[in-house]
Amino acid sequence: MRFDLSQENESLIRRISSSVESGSVSHAYIVEGPATVDKPAFAKQFAKGILCPRRSGDDCGRCPVCQKIDHDNHEDLIFVSRLKTKASIGIDQIRDMQHQLSIKPNGPRYLVIMDESGLMTEEAQNCLLKTLEEPPGASVVVLLTDNSEALLPTIRSRCIRIRLEGSSIAGDDPMARRAEEILEHVLGRSPFYKTKKALGDVRDRNQVLQLIDHMENRCRQLILSRNDNGVLYSPREISECVDSLEKARTQLRQGLTPGSVMKRFVLRVGG
Ligand SMILES: [Zn+2]
Repeated sequence: MRFDLSQENESLIRRISSSVESGSVSHAYIVEGPATVDKPAFAKQFAKGILCPRRSGDDCGRCPVCQKIDHDNHEDLIFVSRLKTKASIGIDQIRDMQHQLSIKPNGPRYLVIMDESGLMTEEAQNCLLKTLEEPPGASVVVLLTDNSEALLPTIRSRCIRIRLEGSSIAGDDPMARRAEEILEHVLGRSPFYKTKKALGDVRDRNQVLQLIDHMENRCRQLILSRNDNGVLYSPREISECVDSLEKARTQLRQGLTPGSVMKRFVLRVGG
């Protein structure tokens, strides 16, 4: 199944774009999501947000820059993907890309979008590392992947990770229901003991990761619908919550215990 997620992930694009607007765009991103998600479409939307000269941090969709990106012929947008005859993305393709980056861009910066970046050979990844360590000018590299674990830790540590969700919350999924309940408590500033009760006995790392996924998904739905069950949360509150969820995911990766990660998350958002 393939569907247009650019709309579903619109709030996410806006959140990233606001970092562009405030001038704090990162030079490298990993966009991770299931195979059913049209990640190149997301990346192009993101590219417009960065390169459109009319609306900083957003795209007008009508100017020559936006139109060229739509038609895949913008001079400063470099696409890298596996060649049809090859099983992987090799070092030659990275070197070609680096050569292009060494030439002055037409506009303010280059944007590189690499599809299926997990297919890079180790040699190619090590070569790309040089670009991430010393990005030429204001260039931005966006690595798309189904699974960021396929990338070297040295690459991952230099990129901001963005996760796209492929499906909405299933109504009969107990973990999804629990995620909704926890979110209601933290966004509604419930007393800590109530949130703790909603968290229940979730102590397992995988369960906590699932909860985080569900909560992020839910946050996006809340931003899109703006009003849920008559309760209104500000987009700012929700996007701060999403940031905290990202932080929780990082802390889990860094080895903090699941219990402590969730406690910190609840205190950050609802405290
Ligand atoms: Zn535009």
